[in-house]
Amino acid sequence: MTALARHIARMIAATGPIPISHYMALALGHPEHGYYMTRDPLGAGGDFTTAPEVSQMFGELVGLWIADTWIAQGRPSPFILAELGPGRGTLMADALRALRSVPGAIDAADVHFVETSPTLRASQQRLVPKATWHERLDELPGGPLFLVANEFFDALPIAQYVKTERGWCERHVALTDGASEETPHFAPVLAPVATPANVLPPAMRDAPPGSIGEISPAAAGIAETIGVRLAAHGGAALIIDYGHPRSAAGDTLQALRTHQYVDPFDAPGEADLTAHVDFEALAAAAMRGGAATYGPVEQGAFLKALGIEARALALKTHATAAQAEAIDVALARLTGNDEMGSLFKVLALTAPRAPVPAGF
Ligand code: SAH
Repeated sequence: MTALARHIARMIAATGPIPISHYMALALGHPEHGYYMTRDPLGAGGDFTTAPEVSQMFGELVGLWIADTWIAQGRPSPFILAELGPGRGTLMADALRALRSVPGAIDAADVHFVETSPTLRASQQRLVPKATWHERLDELPGGPLFLVANEFFDALPIAQYVKTERGWCERHVALTDGASEETPHFAPVLAPVATPANVLPPAMRDAPPGSIGEISPAAAGIAETIGVRLAAHGGAALIIDYGHPRSAAGDTLQALRTHQYVDPFDAPGEADLTAHVDFEALAAAAMRGGAATYGPVEQGAFLKALGIEARALALKTHATAAQAEAIDVALARLTGNDEMGSLFKVLALTAPRAPVPAGF
């Protein structure tokens, strides 16, 4: 049993079941034992692989999108080039290489990372030594903001509610019968008192009994803050993640360990816990902050609109046969319909009245 499981079991034994959102926040972000605090989870030897780790083309196209949006908004200089949850720093390193081909862009860019994991910060420092690191989005300096977040929002805690005869009851995490602080075992239970239905988006409220509704106040708060900054200082944000374009009921909490699905309530801190991103809720929050929103569109269509096929061809002209085949495999993975291409969605936020960004 993990140290974190014993810690959570002690909390529950002392004060009762805890909300799913609290459990998820501890499992991922507990300062000592949280999943992201203790390891680099990315790549073949880890628990999951992300688009920038699949191919350099992903970060390069994101970089070109940022440059194009920056030019369309009058090349503000200097500007904040920010990334939320940069993982190994691969996306930003590839994006910066693309920005170097755009006159003036790299000199105007002041790179800032929002990252809580000391392990991943160390990897980021190796690839992007000149960045400035922050624990939270609020700590970013003011000024025109061009921001990217890939597979960041899915790692933020969600709250879950179950539709019952008593109304919507929040799901909490309890110790199962017979479990103890020494042999902890967890399972979801319902809070005894219902929550007012208006915490859920209107599209979920009429779901049939037994349905699960999810919200992420943490995600909405961050999207709204980005919106406020874009409205005040100008700029744009690109949010890429797996999720659904419209708010809808459904249980999307999942746990991945060494590329396999496992029970989210087993071994907290050892598996990656995520939930699908509700892009409608995210866009609504950004609009409340004052941003204009575009999409979400599917990642495959977005990357093709930005010219990923031409980029793949260009890379293949100097490649060996084996390298060319790897480029084709990566292209299919990033854009394919039964792969990341349709599962992942792209949402753009811009300053109000800014031109429509490329790809939307
Ligand atoms: N964007 C990267 C990594 C995705 S994994 C890629 O595409 O490869 C999620 C990233 O978000 C990790 O870097 C993780 O440490 C970070 N993260 C998770 N929760 C966070 C939080 N609350 N605040 C800041 N960073 C967080």
